[in-house]
Parts: sequence; C-alpha cells; structure tokens
Amino acid sequence: MSEVPVLLVTGGSRGIGAAVSIIAAGRGWRVVVNYAANREAADRVVAEIKAAGGEAIAIQADVGNAAEIVSMFQAVDGHFGRLDGLVNNAGIVDMPQRIDEMSAERVERMMRINVTGSILCAGEAVRRMSTRHGGKGGAIVNISSMAAKLGSPGQYVDYAASKAAIDALTIGLAREIAAEGVRVNAIRPGIIDTEIHASGGLPDRARDMAPSVPMQRPGRAEEVADAVLYLLSPAASYITGAILDVSGGR
Ligand code: NAP
Repeated sequence: MSEVPVLLVTGGSRGIGAAVSIIAAGRGWRVVVNYAANREAADRVVAEIKAAGGEAIAIQADVGNAAEIVSMFQAVDGHFGRLDGLVNNAGIVDMPQRIDEMSAERVERMMRINVTGSILCAGEAVRRMSTRHGGKGGAIVNISSMAAKLGSPGQYVDYAASKAAIDALTIGLAREIAAEGVRVNAIRPGIIDTEIHASGGLPDRARDMAPSVPMQRPGRAEEVADAVLYLLSPAASYITGAILDVSGGR
C-alpha cells in the first residue's frame, strides 16, 4: 500500500474546498474531492491536480444523506485503502430570513447538511484513523464560520447556530480522541469571496461587507486553505481542539 497520505475534502469542488484540495495536492496529499451536484466543477479540480502531477479522484455524495456518506468512505477504502485526513468543509447558507419567517424544512436541511453531515463524516474518519480502531492516526479540520460568534442576525441565525455546533463538535471530539492519534481543529472563516453568497441570494455580499472587515477586504479561498493545510500538517502536531479565526480581524 502506498505511503502517500490521503485527504478527503467534503465540498471539494468549489470555493474553499477546491482551494484546500488543490493546495493539499501540491503539498503531497492524495485528494478525494467530494461534491454534491456539480460534477463539472469537481472534475476541473481533479484535472488541475493531475496536470500539476498530483493524484485525486472525485466522489459524489450528499453529506446530508447518511447512506451516501457511508458509501463515500467505502469508495475511499476501495480506491486508496487508507485515510489520513478529513476536511469537513461542505456547507450551505440559505436566503436571508428572520427566525420568525423560517420554515421547519429550511432549518432541518441546514442542520442536516452543516451539522449532522459533519458529525457523521467525522465518525467515519475516526473509525479509519483512530489507533483505537487499528488506524495510524490522522487529522480532522472542521470549517466553522465567524457567524458562530457573530450570530448573523437578520440574515441566517440558523446557519450561525449550525456553525456554533461545529465549534462544539471540534472541542468535544478533539478531547474525546486526543489520545488516539487524531487531532481535531477548526477554522472560522470571515467573509470569503466564493459562490456561497450567491447561493444565499446575495451575490455581492463579499464586496458589500468589505467595509465591516478591519482589513477592509474579503478573504480569498486560498487564504483559508493555507490555514487548513497548516492544521493538517505535522507543524501543528501539538494543536488539537483549537479554533482559528481567518477573518481579516472581524
Ligand atoms: P461554496 O463556494 O458554495 O462551495 C460549497 C461546496 O460544498 C461545493 O463544493 C458544493 O458542492 C459542496 N456542497 C454543498 N452542499 C453539499 C452537500 N450536501 N454534500 C456535499 N457537498 C456539498 O462554499 P464556500 O464558501 O467555499 O464554503 C465552504 C465552507 O466554508 C462552508 O462550510 C461554509 O459554511 C464555510 N464558510 C464560508 C464562508 C464564506 O464567506 N465563503 C465564511 C465562513 C464559513 P457542489 O459543487 O456539488 O454544489
């Protein structure tokens, strides 16, 4: 079996996840680019990695679907036979709404994809990486949001609550498996220039919010990815349960 480490990036086809996938491949990871629906975007990321001499595959799975998560990890087992890192990056926002306007369906979907999906993916990764299960150890990085601290009033309090759950997941899981060779950390991105804002009905949000950022600009996906790669790397070998703000001071 190859000794080259394998990283699974959920939502690796676009935005922050795509940047993580491409930078990780450049730093010696073999990469699994997960996506939900946009096959072309995932294929583009895989092609870019391969053109640069790296190794990657795309796997479709909706992290809001427990059975698809199980199948995805089984596909990783079948293709690479090992797993060394997980980036729980897949996540959604929704249209700006007050909480007294939100439907149960909206909130349930938000939590299913952002929270349940991350917890179930972490569980699958722990079953493969933890020394308790015969694994060689590894690292998990969860993508939270500054919304967990700021609350996103008037936009999406449900999203903010889902990201606060990611912070708690990070702290609890880090402590739960700290002695089993697996480190668990999180990044809280601020306003990052990706397509997520358009998917929440606010295509200009990154530019419009720039004046509220102390650094006066949105972040780039690569700036988040660099922090993710640091937390995955041996340079962060004594860091677990940490949550790093990558937010231009916001
Ligand atoms: P994005 O540009 O909208 O990309 C989202 C990615 O997640 C895509 O690859 C998408 O796949 C995938 N995805 C969405 N739903 C999925 C599902 N149910 N199952 C599997 N994959 C799914 O988003 P982004 O801005 O890069 O955000 C990435 C993460 O950073 C999210 O967790 C987000 O909450 C967090 N974040 C972003 C910002 C920001 O300002 N951008 C700030 C704070 C936190 P398809 O291509 O198939 O749709």
